[in-house]
Amino acid sequence: MKTLEIRNLHVAVEGKEILKGIDLTIRQGEVHAVMGPNGSGKSTLSYTIMGHPKYQITEGEIIFDGKSITGMSPDQRARLGLFLAFQYPHEVPGVSLFNFLRNAYVSLKSPEGLPNQNTPENRAKELQSIKEFRQFVQEKMKLLNIPEDMMKRYLNEGFSGGEKKRCEILQLAVLQPAIAILDETDSGLDIDALKTVSEGVNALSGSEMGILLITHYNRILKYIRPDFVHVLMNGKIVKSGTQALALELEEKGYDFIRNEIAA
Ligand code: ADP
Ligand code: MG
Repeated sequence: MKTLEIRNLHVAVEGKEILKGIDLTIRQGEVHAVMGPNGSGKSTLSYTIMGHPKYQITEGEIIFDGKSITGMSPDQRARLGLFLAFQYPHEVPGVSLFNFLRNAYVSLKSPEGLPNQNTPENRAKELQSIKEFRQFVQEKMKLLNIPEDMMKRYLNEGFSGGEKKRCEILQLAVLQPAIAILDETDSGLDIDALKTVSEGVNALSGSEMGILLITHYNRILKYIRPDFVHVLMNGKIVKSGTQALALELEEKGYDFIRNEIAA
């Protein structure tokens, strides 16, 4: 079982302190929701965990599977089993969804890469593994209700909001990370897409995957049930609880927590 531990994390962006001492521990198999108003630092937290160079850790550390990852590059972190689904997935013209998934899979699972000698044996091996990989991806696409012909389309180019989010979850299904961070996966989804994405995440979570689900609204938490709910405000986790806290937030809004803190 791998664990992600965030200890007293302070993060600055362009000299401005955004995160002001976050403590959070996520184990494989647990679903943690982090909720907070816009600008509270949710995306900053997810980018920092993945190692985006713009987000500077000024104090504290991030430990994954017993080792500090604070100095590691994003792809080293990915190889260890961390995954981030972006709030705004990028379009990659010229790279098909299938090739993108295959390259990501190969670079994560076999860092030595594909055989680069173009011998008949290597070609045959590679074609075989492409065929196997295609079947593997097809199964996952079925699970997520993604039409098969999307495999050939350029990654995210012209995809609807719902299709982009479903493809992010497809990456999760294919790459099978130990801990996945989903940054506002619910934003911009209509109710059908929200259900499909949630069902996909639920099918994946089980005992294997730990999930950090970042969200502004409670509505996704009706479909993905978190074990823990944390409220992030102004760069700090100001309250933690269970699903009941998310319901209370929906009912009373973030002001009730602001008032609690002020009192
Ligand atoms: P959330 O995801 O909760 O809406 P963010 O983490 O995106 O919040 O932003 C938190 C604060 O950090 C905001 O005030 C935002 O303007 C600032 N911030 C985040 N990223 C950057 C950046 N790359 N450059 C400058 N300011 C940033
Ligand atoms: Mg955000």
